[in-house]
Amino acid sequence: MAELTNEFSWSRSRDNAFQECKRKYFYHYYGAWGGWDAAAPQEVRRLYILKQLASRQQWAGRAVHDAIEMALHAFAHGRDIPVEPFIADVIERMRGEWRSSKAGRYRENPKSTALFEHEYRVELAPEAWQALSRNVAACLRNFFRLPLLAEIRKTTPEHWSIEHWSKVFDFESTAVWVAPDFGFWTGQGRLALVDWKTGGTSPNGAAFQLGCYALYAHDVLGVEPARVDLFEANLREPEVTRIHWSDERLEAIREQLRLSIRSMKAYLADPAANVAAIADFEKTEDLRICRWCNFRAVCRPELGA
Ligand code: SF4
Repeated sequence: MAELTNEFSWSRSRDNAFQECKRKYFYHYYGAWGGWDAAAPQEVRRLYILKQLASRQQWAGRAVHDAIEMALHAFAHGRDIPVEPFIADVIERMRGEWRSSKAGRYRENPKSTALFEHEYRVELAPEAWQALSRNVAACLRNFFRLPLLAEIRKTTPEHWSIEHWSKVFDFESTAVWVAPDFGFWTGQGRLALVDWKTGGTSPNGAAFQLGCYALYAHDVLGVEPARVDLFEANLREPEVTRIHWSDERLEAIREQLRLSIRSMKAYLADPAANVAAIADFEKTEDLRICRWCNFRAVCRPELGA
């Protein structure tokens, strides 16, 4: 496979991929590069299509996030939401996406819904899909009932940041992406950044992610940690955890970021030009990771469907 180049940037999901399997990281951030072009070399296009696959849980999570974004837009414009019809619409849309994925439309149109379960023909009983839609509905019902939402709605919508922010900022000459789900200024003049969660998370991973938001608030918005509230809203339980940050913890996040960036760059054939060579990125030995890896068909076809 040809060596490909693109701009190096850091994100939490990139760090995750790097931790999981170096080869997976290569495919995602280097091998698939340019595959959005239907005329790209066949192996690049194939990697790009596989890169888009989402597990059913990720897909459900995205459906909840998109629905919340829509609801918050309506609230910002002073409109109310009839909860049950709204949820029914979300589920109906998911049915359409499921059918599109099942029919394999993502192979021609990689940005449409592409489910891992369809690509890899994971046999699932209809009850598993039903449980998924029940979970989406439960998360959304919980969202509408959250005291945090009531608190948000008491504040001025002009200061809400509704879109899944994708903000990039410069961290010691590396572009770092952070994407809090929602931000608002509380009645007490504090900056609140919220992450909606629809599934289980590892406490360490979540803390790193929230720490990056605190770093963004400090370095870009000029808001010191003492004035920032980080909320992790687990919509399944539902349970909202408020995390306070401090200057010392911010320094620990900086150190963690430096280490992660350094480790990724150490794998590159040419770190300055962000050039990677596939042979430098070893495959994981943990076949449990391969089982749910998007790139399995290319990387370890012997594992089968
Ligand atoms: S199939 Fe396994 S070894 Fe290959 S990229 Fe995926 S996780 Fe890594």
